[in-house]
Order: sequence, then C-alpha cells, then structure tokens
Amino acid sequence: MKLMEEVNQGVATKNLLEVRNLKKYFPIKSGVIQRTTGHVKAVDDISFHIREGETLGIVGESGSGKSTLGRVILRLLSSTDGEIIFDGNDITQIKEKEMKGYRKDMQIIFQDPFSSLNSKMNVYELIEETLVVQTKLVKAERKKKVEAIVEKVGLRIDDLQKYPHEFSGGQRQRISIARALVNNPKFVVCDEPVSALDVSIQAQVLNLMMDLQDELGLTYLFIAHDLSVVKHISNRIVVMYLGRVAEIAPKNSLYDTPKHPYTQALLDSVSVVDRGENRTMDREKIVLKGTMPSPANPPSGCAFRTRCPFAFERCSEERPELTEVEEGHFVACHLHTADSKKGIY
Ligand code: SF4
Repeated sequence: MKLMEEVNQGVATKNLLEVRNLKKYFPIKSGVIQRTTGHVKAVDDISFHIREGETLGIVGESGSGKSTLGRVILRLLSSTDGEIIFDGNDITQIKEKEMKGYRKDMQIIFQDPFSSLNSKMNVYELIEETLVVQTKLVKAERKKKVEAIVEKVGLRIDDLQKYPHEFSGGQRQRISIARALVNNPKFVVCDEPVSALDVSIQAQVLNLMMDLQDELGLTYLFIAHDLSVVKHISNRIVVMYLGRVAEIAPKNSLYDTPKHPYTQALLDSVSVVDRGENRTMDREKIVLKGTMPSPANPPSGCAFRTRCPFAFERCSEERPELTEVEEGHFVACHLHTADSKKGIY
C-alpha cells in the first residue's frame, strides 16, 4: 500500500513532527536605548502533530503567522516558548552544531522561486549546493544524485547548464523542489510554493509534489493563504488567525462542515467547486469584513471577535480553547465549547 493511502486510511500512525504550545514573539523596540515596549505575537501557543507521510495544510490570511510558524519549526527562527519534537527528538533548544544533523531531513520550498534561487549559479550548481553543504559525497556521487532528482522533477539533463532566468515560473519552482529534495529529506515545509504561479501551472506543480511525496515517502507542512490551494494536497488542515489556531480538522470534515466562523468565511470566499461538493449550506454566507488586527495588539478574548458576526459578551472576556467537537475535528470558538472536550490535536 502506498504511504499516502496508508495515511488516508489511518494505518500510518507514527508522528514525524509534534509542536507543543509553540510561541514566537518578536520584541517591539523603541526610544534611543531601544527598550522593549511590547511584542508582536506572530505564533501564539500553537500545538499540532503531523504523521509520517501526511500533508498538513496551514491556511490563513497574510499576517496570520503561518510562514513564521514554518520557519520556527525548521529552527530558521528561534522560538520564544514551547516544544518542537522531530522524529521523536526534542530539537527546540539544541545547539546549531547538533541541529546540523537534522537539517538534511528538514527542508523548505519558498514561495518565489526567482528570488530564492541565486541568479549567478546554474541549475547544476544550485542543486549540488545542498549536497556540498550537507554531505561528504565526492563529486561523481553528487553528480549522480543531481541528475536523478532533476529527472524526477520533470526537467532535462540539458537544463543543468542553464541559469534560473532562462526558465518559466513553473520550471523555476521545479528547480527549487529538486534543490530541497536532492538529499532525501523526510520533512518539507512548503511555504506557498504555488502562490506566485499562473493558475494553469499551479495544478501541475501540486501534482508533481504529490507524486514525489508518494515516491519518496515525504511529509509536508503545506502553507497557503486560501483553502482552494490546499484542498487536493492536504490530509488535514489547520486554519490560523492572528498567530493562533482557529480550527484543525481532516480535510473532508473541514470542507463539508466547517465550524469556526473564520473558516466559514474563508470557504465562502472561494468558488463552489473549491469549497467541496458535499458541503452543507444550511447557514448564512459570511463575508469577511475589515482587516486583521495587529498581532502587536490583539483583541482580548477571541482574536477573531472584531470581525465575527456572531461575537457575544464571552468572546471579549475569555480566549476560546481548542476543543474536539467531532473525532479529530477541533475548533476554538465559544459557540462550540458547551459539550466538547479538550484533546490532543
Ligand atoms: Fe466569533 Fe465568539 Fe466564536 Fe470568536 S469565540 S469566533 S468571536 S463566536
């Protein structure tokens, strides 16, 4: 059975990544002596897990903290609090020297392949660089690996001598994918990898990523700003708002019966096809009004209350906890907390 099928059927149960109460606060400095006068709470007490071979989608508007979350998990940014458990090991506070041993297994694909690829290096050098930095392979061994991954991502051996500007956006993203995968990682943070591409190319790149996941046994954290992009690739989805988790659910459960008003509003903003065929529409459509408040000064209680059409007194007084309302379906909203229980997300 292919790994993705096992994940969908709940057979593969080992957690590759666990994030527990993770926080990333950026200090706000002001004055001549640069005194800390507050904090931007980019990631504010987030917990979830990702099973081996699974794709966990992370969705939220710009400023929700999703990209910061991806970078903190990879230790490209330090965390303020909480734990990151990767492959059974706590990597939250380990020294950079020790972290090097994990870098091979944890990679990232960036949104904009043009700015993330050094224009002075040809494709061969760009992909080989990962192996030069992370391995002790000799030149001939590196060449073999580079050529193998280039073919896997749908580029030709002839392309290796070309430079990034000679490729289309979709092909450049294939180079980025090859660069991330050449050293056989286990886990890849995909930070809006198709957002900069034409819609017609997005599906090709998403399909390629899914094929590679199956073939190479990869686990993805897939970040996107809308729910239509993550629909096909994700097994479960986390909806983030202002550095917090609003909802976590298996894909079908989230699209068919979204619970959090913010998730409902995000779904209402995409097309019927992208929402999901089985979705029940036994409620009023929610139009998302206004902009997200500053994470430096989030609203009291529920972070979404300033834009929520259902907000009531309790919403400004008490922060809603993430609670399980159906099997594997968690929501942070006072409308759903009466009969629910806390659990492990
Ligand atoms: Fe809206 Fe209140 Fe639920 Fe927040 S807790 S989403 S403000 S109803």
